[in-house]
Amino acid sequence: MGGPLTCIGIESTAHTFGIGVVKYPSFQILCEVRRVYRPISGGIHPSEAAKHHVEKAVEALKETASKVDIKKVDIVAFARGPGLGPCLRVGAALARALSLKLEKPLVGVNHAASHINIARALTKAVNPVVLYVSGGNTQVIHVSEGKYVILGETEDIAVGNLMDAFARRAGLGFPGGPRVMELASKSSRLVKLPYSVKGMNISLSGMLTMVEGLIGKEPIEDLCFSLQETVFSMLIEVSERAMAMLGVDEFIIAGGVGANARLRQMAGEMCRERNAVFKDYPVEYYADNGVMIAWEGIIQYMLGERLSLEESTVKPRWRITDVKPSPKGLYED
Ligand code: AMP
Ligand code: MG
Repeated sequence: MGGPLTCIGIESTAHTFGIGVVKYPSFQILCEVRRVYRPISGGIHPSEAAKHHVEKAVEALKETASKVDIKKVDIVAFARGPGLGPCLRVGAALARALSLKLEKPLVGVNHAASHINIARALTKAVNPVVLYVSGGNTQVIHVSEGKYVILGETEDIAVGNLMDAFARRAGLGFPGGPRVMELASKSSRLVKLPYSVKGMNISLSGMLTMVEGLIGKEPIEDLCFSLQETVFSMLIEVSERAMAMLGVDEFIIAGGVGANARLRQMAGEMCRERNAVFKDYPVEYYADNGVMIAWEGIIQYMLGERLSLEESTVKPRWRITDVKPSPKGLYED
């Protein structure tokens, strides 16, 4: 599928400013650098996160240049959306400057597709059902007839958002997911919370209201445990339904919430029970990073995508259904 290519990818959609350099077809990761914004209080403030990215961009680029010869890259890719406008614009500006300086093509990629495709590259999953769970998204996705199809999604808030909102209310800090996971591991007592699955969709706002109301009335460890068990059961149920409906026997998780060990354990159990395979990969690649943007940059470049500097505006609300999936055969040996 074409000769060797090297791409530099820039991630800046939300809390992480990341740069990655990856090679096609070997999927050799030449460099991975990231700087993560941690708000002092509350959730992500878009303008403060953008300021963080501006402050860290040069440092991250210098670190990249100390590890790889940037002049040798063939493609410059950046996360064009979805994400926070002020943050996206920092990555886009750096990518434009690099493309101009290196005289290399510029490719703008979709952040969600990048999460999915790095998971596929790392696991060699051919056409799995994907559970995409991040700060702002909760979707069950599959590629059918050359298109990303959303089979199910949250009807209100995203699972990462639920964890972060609950943790903030409970004074656990941001991001909430890792703190909830840590505290949940200290409990095994289930507090009943609303379980809301409708076909392949789920709803989480009722759960957030209830669990927030229980802060201070129930031990925090029990609340974290119950939140995880209930929400993850819902996620695994809808994923399993999608696998059964499509007759698919490969399952991957993509996005930051995939860093949760309990969620991945439940995914493994569900797959074993139905003779399917849960394809796991190193935990650091569930979180936002530049390598996934670089890999998606190569895929979109191969599909013919190029951006002129003038048209390289960001797309904060870009839906994955408007993106072309990877060419057939890319993940088969
Ligand atoms: P992303 O939007 O892909 O960068 O993912 C960020 C989201 O992942 C945030 O909502 C985090 O709280 C969540 N997250 C990160 N680590 C974990 C974890 N170990 N368990 C659950 N959620 C997590
Ligand atoms: Mg993400």
